[in-house]
Amino acid sequence: MSELRLAAAPGADLPHLLGLDRSGLTALLQQWGESPFRASQVLQWVHQRQVDDVADMSNISKTLRARLLAETRWDEPEVIADQLAQDGTRKWLLRLPDGNAIETVFIPEEDRGTLCISSQVGCSLACSFCATGAQGLNRNLASHEIIAQLRVARRHLGLDAITNVVFMGMGEPLLNLKQVIPVIRLLLDDFAYGLSARRVTVSTAGVLPGLEQLGRETPVNLAISLHASRDTLRDELVPINRHYPLAELMTACRHYPLPPRRRITFEYVMLDGINDGDGDARALVRLLQGLPALVNLIPFNPFPGSPYRRSSTARIDAFREIVLRAGIMTVTRRPRGDDIAAACGQLAGQVRDGRRALVRMPAPRPELRP
Ligand code: SAH
Repeated sequence: MSELRLAAAPGADLPHLLGLDRSGLTALLQQWGESPFRASQVLQWVHQRQVDDVADMSNISKTLRARLLAETRWDEPEVIADQLAQDGTRKWLLRLPDGNAIETVFIPEEDRGTLCISSQVGCSLACSFCATGAQGLNRNLASHEIIAQLRVARRHLGLDAITNVVFMGMGEPLLNLKQVIPVIRLLLDDFAYGLSARRVTVSTAGVLPGLEQLGRETPVNLAISLHASRDTLRDELVPINRHYPLAELMTACRHYPLPPRRRITFEYVMLDGINDGDGDARALVRLLQGLPALVNLIPFNPFPGSPYRRSSTARIDAFREIVLRAGIMTVTRRPRGDDIAAACGQLAGQVRDGRRALVRMPAPRPELRP
């Protein structure tokens, strides 16, 4: 591994092997005069078996191994914090070469292990109840930086621990589709991570051009961060609503090319006294009428400086009852890992123990605050 890293470090403009999906890898191999079927073998070594050293790629010719070593990069972000919550949720803080930091969260459940990955450093959407939104956008992640999050988790947990992947960490995946789509392809490739499309979920605040592209190019699950059923309130909570208001968002959902027997998940953060009344529940029911929907109520997770409170359990139950009674499948998401700030909306990519914050924080944008 050290040999590989030493060889790779100076060539920052070399293609990054971890971020190449099957088509990218095939193109590179063809350029090198290699047979395209080698792509499956390389994918298997790099992703499925996750070797750290080209020398381990025993069925690959010496010539090809030498070229991979000399002409591609494999470097990975450094793990600078590794936290375990009481409920088994685990969070890693990774430092990127430019000094930015991102977070990745593993959520173990009885029947599955979900990795929640980041797609951007920060986020440009400034949702008023989200810690990532409060820090603004630093930059998009490259596909290899997104894949590196899986590698780190699998190195710590074992190669089979991750059964599901959700793009619900830092960032808006639909504003970085150029890098996110190759990652999705690797997640679904039998020779890489081999996940079924049902086990991969992309969550979006409703970036409509990206939504169309996602539906055209991938069969993964879709989650929409809805959070309000009226434009006036959604404009405030999810400011991208001012560009793509509810009527357009719902039309896009109705036209989304859903695979058979699949539902769109609608995420709804429960904010005390803001969006959690009986009237809000009824408006939600009207909005989702006729859609194959699953409503996911998320009790608000506070973060330092957040202006909201979590709705009471009784209020969440009453809200859920109204939506359920209307025949819409509704579940309440259990907060996970909140003791290590790993729950939904708490990711900020910062070192919180008093050391220097690694994320460069742009000036706050007060006009977008409620
Ligand atoms: N940008 C994407 C993915 C990010 S977050 C999106 O908006 O969907 C994943 C989910 O966590 C989203 O539904 C988001 O709205 C929700 N979330 C953000 N902040 C939260 C908070 N403080 N408490 C609970 N859920 C939150």
